[in-house]
Amino acid sequence: MSTVAVIGLGIMGLPMAKNLVTAGHDVVGYNRSPEKAQALAQEGGKAAESVAEAVRDADVIITMLPDSPDVKGVVEGQDGVFAHASAGALWIDASTIRPDVAGELAEAAREAGLRPLDAPVSGGEQGAIDGALSIMVGGTAEDFEAAQEVFNAVGATIVHVGPSGSGQTVKAANQLIVAGNIQLLAEAVVFLEAYGVDTDSALKVLGGGLAGSKVLDQKGQKMLDRNFDPGFRLALHNKDMGIVTAAAREAGVTIPLGGLVAQFVSAMVARGDGGLDHSGLFTLAQELSGRDNQ
Ligand code: NAD
Repeated sequence: MSTVAVIGLGIMGLPMAKNLVTAGHDVVGYNRSPEKAQALAQEGGKAAESVAEAVRDADVIITMLPDSPDVKGVVEGQDGVFAHASAGALWIDASTIRPDVAGELAEAAREAGLRPLDAPVSGGEQGAIDGALSIMVGGTAEDFEAAQEVFNAVGATIVHVGPSGSGQTVKAANQLIVAGNIQLLAEAVVFLEAYGVDTDSALKVLGGGLAGSKVLDQKGQKMLDRNFDPGFRLALHNKDMGIVTAAAREAGVTIPLGGLVAQFVSAMVARGDGGLDHSGLFTLAQELSGRDNQ
């Protein structure tokens, strides 16, 4: 069993850290707001007061932070991971960040003597709690193998997709597909309600056919209940739509529907709803049909 440092103990990082404890690892957590590290300490982990303290004795370091600047801020600089981790430690960045930044940071990590993997995840908060995440991994095959035990404690579908940065490219595609699915599910629910259809029954039968999806299973009920507690915050999905839009442009790839959905996500954030779950896109779909608060 390894000593694992987890930096970023939010909606995803904390349950992942708890599952690592359950699997028998020594887990040291660090979070900018310290009460979250205390929550880990109550579950059998340890709370560190700095990045340096968290990573010093770690065999494996996991970062689970919101965005590219956050990851750069935590790994670079004299107080950062690269300066304080032991030589040969695996650094697994599970955050969703820009693929180009992931590639650059992997190079810097190797120069610092670390073994980097970009390993963004999908499956949401429930997937993190259940240890059932889908993990898309970029890096060397050797480092991927070395990280198996840790990945197995937090994930169920774990796939090496290519060299450093590739995990983030696959995750960008994931976010494109999820946002498009949520938007169409929201429009379908608004449509069904307009006809007074029993939406519980409708989603049940839709879920069993080609329209069925994990998005429908996990987000349909939230729309029916008007429960948009996060889950996955629209502010983060807005970041991800920015990532996929920029990466597609960079590659000369056109994503017209993705571009439209990106605008809906961005509108939600602009009007102050970035803290809602991404299923909150439903509220905008309602309003576009003049059916708000129904
Ligand atoms: P979150 O905001 O709940 O958690 C991020 C945590 O990092 C917070 O606890 C915050 O205090 C901490 N933090 C921020 N800056 C820090 C710093 N400099 N040092 C230490 N701690 C710092 O976000 P989340 O939902 O857990 O998402 C984390 C990442 O995982 C994001 O990149 C997100 O896109 C991705 N993701 C989220 C989900 C989901 O359903 N929530 C699913 C898949 C992927």
